[in-house]
Amino acid sequence: MDELLRRSEKLTTVGQLAAGVAHEIRNPLTTLRGFLQLQLETSKLNKMHVDLMLSEIDRINLIVGEFLILAKPQAARFEEKDVRFILGDVISLLDSQAHLCNIEFLTAFEQAECMISCEENQLKQVFINVIKNAIEAMDSGGKLTIEVKHEASNHVKVTIIDEGIGIPEERIPMLGNPFYTDKDKGTGLGIMVSQRIIQSHQGTLEIKSKVGVGTIVMITLPLLKPNGIMYNTYLGVNEHE
Ligand code: ADP
Ligand code: MG
Repeated sequence: MDELLRRSEKLTTVGQLAAGVAHEIRNPLTTLRGFLQLQLETSKLNKMHVDLMLSEIDRINLIVGEFLILAKPQAARFEEKDVRFILGDVISLLDSQAHLCNIEFLTAFEQAECMISCEENQLKQVFINVIKNAIEAMDSGGKLTIEVKHEASNHVKVTIIDEGIGIPEERIPMLGNPFYTDKDKGTGLGIMVSQRIIQSHQGTLEIKSKVGVGTIVMITLPLLKPNGIMYNTYLGVNEHE
């Protein structure tokens, strides 16, 4: 794509994001300011007010936290890792939470190596976001299946399947829009952040869903050859955004 056009599109997205963040942070700040003003004028702040202030601060913290993941650290280190081990770590991290919600992890992992070039913490964050969404969609428990398979000899495909409430067809295109959420304590940033991270790894993230049946999230990433070079060199060898 024409470089100028690409850059201006990037700027528009950044602008939209900034506007969204500003809006989402201003709301809780307004509440906080109101309560402090009340305290100043009447000294009548009670426990309920303070609890609300704390939860508003938590909300700001959550939003800022999600954005910090996007902001790449000075030297984002892409390393050669086996995606099966990254998923293994994430599963043990979320195992107790899943157990509490009556959710059983089922895994079907490729036997062969699945080496990719990745920024491990960012990729972990993607799997955490997607698996947490799956857990949150299964109120009364169920099976959460995670598959890792080679795809067309030069990619690896991670599939996360839940038996949750599902997503109505007309809402699927909205996923990935910042702040799109139907949860009381949601930020609506998880999918957007995940999509961006997967893009910067030259991969794709796809969501299929059926209300009352469940949701499937498919993440495809380029495999590394044994010599550490990506198979799909036409994208530029190890040229990360
Ligand atoms: P959040 O989880 O904070 O709401 P996300 O970006 O992670 O934000 O998800 C956005 C929305 O997409 C969720 O509020 C939910 O409505 C929907 N969603 C995402 N994953 C699933 C899933 N596995 N099952 C059902 N709905 C989902
Ligand atoms: Mg989420």
